Amino acid sequence: MSGPEAVADCMFCGIVAGDVPATIVRETPRLIAFRDIDPQAPTHVLLVPRAHHASVAELAGADPDVLAELVREAAAVAADEGHSAYRLVFNTGAEAGQSVFHVHGHVLAGRPLAWPPG
Ligand code: AMP
Repeated sequence: MSGPEAVADCMFCGIVAGDVPATIVRETPRLIAFRDIDPQAPTHVLLVPRAHHASVAELAGADPDVLAELVREAAAVAADEGHSAYRLVFNTGAEAGQSVFHVHGHVLAGRPLAWPPG
C-alpha cells in the first residue's frame, strides 16, 4: 500500500502523526528522522518519509524527489553526529529483515561496520 494517507496500524505513520513517541533528530516538510528503539551502532537513526510507502522501490516509483532528499538527509544526520563514514540501509522484504512496512533508511555510524553484512 502506498500514498500520502496515514495507514492504520502502521507504527511509523503513528510516529509521523505524533501518536507514538520517538526521539526525533531532524525534520523536514517531507521527512522525519528519529532514533531506532533498538540501536545497532552508536548512531542508529531511521529516516522516514511522512507519506506512507511500503518499500524503497515503491517510494522511488511514486516520489523520487523524496528518495533523493532522504539520501541527502542521511549524510546530514551522520554529519550532525560527527561521522563522515556511515551506512545507509533499506531492508526490503521480510526475508531481508524488513519488519516495518513503511519505508525507512537506517543510518548506522560510529563503529566499524563489517562487510558482508549478516
Ligand atoms: P526493519 O527491520 O528494517 O524494518 O527496521 C525496523 C526498525 O524499526 C528496527 O530497527 C526497530 O528497532 C525499529 N523500531 C521499531 N519500532 C520502533 C519505534 N517505536 N521507535 C523507533 N524505532 C522502532
